[in-house]
Amino acid sequence: MSLKPVAFLSHPACLRHRPPAGHPERPERLSAILSALESDPLHLRLLSTAPPVDPEPWLTSVHDPEYLQRLRQTQGKPLQPLDHGDTYAGGDSYLAAQAAVGCALAAIDLVCCGEARSVFCAVRPPGHHARVAAAMGFCLLNTVAIAARYAQASYKISRVAILDWDVHHGNGTQEIFYEDPTVYYASLHQYPHYPGTGASDETGRGPGLGFTLNVPLPPGSTEEDYLRATRERILPALTAFRPELLLVSAGFDAHRDDPLGAMLLVEQSFARLTHLCVELVETVQAKGIVSILEGGYNTQALARSVLAHLQALESSPG
Ligand SMILES: [Zn+2]
Repeated sequence: MSLKPVAFLSHPACLRHRPPAGHPERPERLSAILSALESDPLHLRLLSTAPPVDPEPWLTSVHDPEYLQRLRQTQGKPLQPLDHGDTYAGGDSYLAAQAAVGCALAAIDLVCCGEARSVFCAVRPPGHHARVAAAMGFCLLNTVAIAARYAQASYKISRVAILDWDVHHGNGTQEIFYEDPTVYYASLHQYPHYPGTGASDETGRGPGLGFTLNVPLPPGSTEEDYLRATRERILPALTAFRPELLLVSAGFDAHRDDPLGAMLLVEQSFARLTHLCVELVETVQAKGIVSILEGGYNTQALARSVLAHLQALESSPG
């Protein structure tokens, strides 16, 4: 039986969101990943195209129409803060956010149709802080949340797990699924830190109670701390949930060289976390992994960490 490939998806429009000079969430993040991958033989083994998916009909599965309208109205306008001072939209920002979601939905198709065993989406702007009705924390559309809804609606998947290892808590994603027992949100993050949410007693509400798991970690946490928390807290919970699909909010800003976090991970730490994800998917016999780029603001550390993540996805038997 031949092994299904791992895929790497990106879109040139993701380079066209250009926050003001000096902003950490800049197009160079993505160009660094693309050039690192280009010069690595790994790229020859990756599937890198997928039939495009129009994200437009799916945006309202997560976002408020009035917010989407406000976001669309920024198209072609001068760059301006949207909802929060650190989050900009204008020019082609909407096109970039739309392309990010389009890639994630195409990734869902590849995994759910059995054409790839896992997919990494190198996209920006990131998404996990984007709220139902507001931009936040450099995020305009909540890409991972829209991908979860798309998978559920298009492939009749009842249980989706989202593992978020970005150094920041994914407050937007948590909020979106807080009362929903069909999408399990699990997060490892620096705490206390931006955006302030993600305490361990935030566990969901109503029918969603017990389907949100926050594992806050103190600044200075190491690979060992991350792996222990994943093995002892995250994996048992997600194994019991038995997801049919695993989505990863893959931020790489817990790297020790990242300017926005105070954690001590190195490139190979992300490879080891990735191996644990593959192990989970095998244990519960889920369809596969769709991993979506979130943060990571030292462009070189980011590029190397993404390569380590991809190599781990590719080298795992899956
Ligand atoms: Zn982050």
